[in-house]
Amino acid sequence: MALNLLYSNDRKGQYPASWYNATATEQKPYDALRGDIRADVCIVGAGYTGLSAALHLAEAGMEVALLDAHRVGFGASGRNGGQLGSGQRMDQEDLESFMGEAEALKLWRLGEEAKDLVKSLIARHDIDCHLKPGVAWTGSSCSEVSHLHDYARHLQDWYGYDQIEVLNDDACLKLCPSPDYKGGFLDHGAGHLHPLNYALGLARAAEAAGAKIYEQSEALEITEGAEDEHEDPQQPYGQAARSEKVRLASEPAVETTRVHPSDAARGEPSSGGTSRGSIPEPPRSLGERTRAKVSPAPSQALGQPVDAVRGAGVATVSF
Ligand SMILES: Cc1cc2nc3c(=O)[nH]c(=O)nc-3n(C[C@H](O)[C@H](O)[C@H](O)COP(=O)(O)OP(=O)(O)OC[C@H]3O[C@@H](n4cnc5c(N)ncnc54)[C@H](O)[C@@H]3O)c2cc1C
Repeated sequence: MALNLLYSNDRKGQYPASWYNATATEQKPYDALRGDIRADVCIVGAGYTGLSAALHLAEAGMEVALLDAHRVGFGASGRNGGQLGSGQRMDQEDLESFMGEAEALKLWRLGEEAKDLVKSLIARHDIDCHLKPGVAWTGSSCSEVSHLHDYARHLQDWYGYDQIEVLNDDACLKLCPSPDYKGGFLDHGAGHLHPLNYALGLARAAEAAGAKIYEQSEALEITEGAEDEHEDPQQPYGQAARSEKVRLASEPAVETTRVHPSDAARGEPSSGGTSRGSIPEPPRSLGERTRAKVSPAPSQALGQPVDAVRGAGVATVSF
């Protein structure tokens, strides 16, 4: 039986035991999706991607239904390292060699915009997530320290980044009193936050803006097509959430959720589905199914890649 990543390490609807969970301040449970609801946009996945999309779409006046199979911030968003870092996952110098200076500059600016956005959302919505400025990068050998100093100067000289401070060994020791660290840099523009509290605060803000949030509501299937095409009385759905667009904010898991309901009810993978190969155990009864409906719309929204947004269709949801 294929591994179902959505449930393989976790218990349905329960945050994993973690310091973040133990210290979360805004743990408000949201109801599971029940009944037949309608929205302009249905978003699958309540991590940072889905929460931010829900918040911004709701603020733009759209009716939003946001679904999560587990809880708000249940995935990586509620259990990551909490580093609000500068740049991308590769050093700018590597990006320059990889794709050229112009593209590397665009990615740097994108990273700066992302940091600004996070900080402004925290301030605007008064999110108590212990945002603390400053991330230090330290080296424990001369060559590592030299590399970090060179990189800090590169960011200053080429990117005009003035929030970075080169640390010599004394400055480094003051910051972190360990003889193992011999220098590096302190990035004052980066920071650290409580990742789960940030997600929960975004949920509160999205709800206040009008978004409807549903937990323990797993999307099992998204079927594209006009709303009327899905009015099949033979379908074993009792309930529906109808929307203009479905926004996929849980890319890997959604890939694993296109299970035909009749196959899912038998606990089998859909022959026409994608890569899941199994559904959560134990198989649900048909009475535990509901669906999100979407009517025809262009497959693009908010500048998202086309394959991240689906136009018309039905998202089948369980709770
Ligand atoms: C160990 C680790 C440490 C990290 N550290 C950092 C860091 O320090 N700084 C940083 O910036 N980034 C870090 N990241 C990356 C960061 O956490 C992710 O980029 C970010 O959380 C992704 O958010 P997301 O909303 O796209 O996905 P997720 O947070 O994973 O949210 C996806 C949500 O979709 C839900 N879902 C999935 N399938 C379905 C379905 N079929 N129906 C309904 N709901 C569904 C899931 O339950 C989940 O809540 C780290 C990641 C990991 C794994």
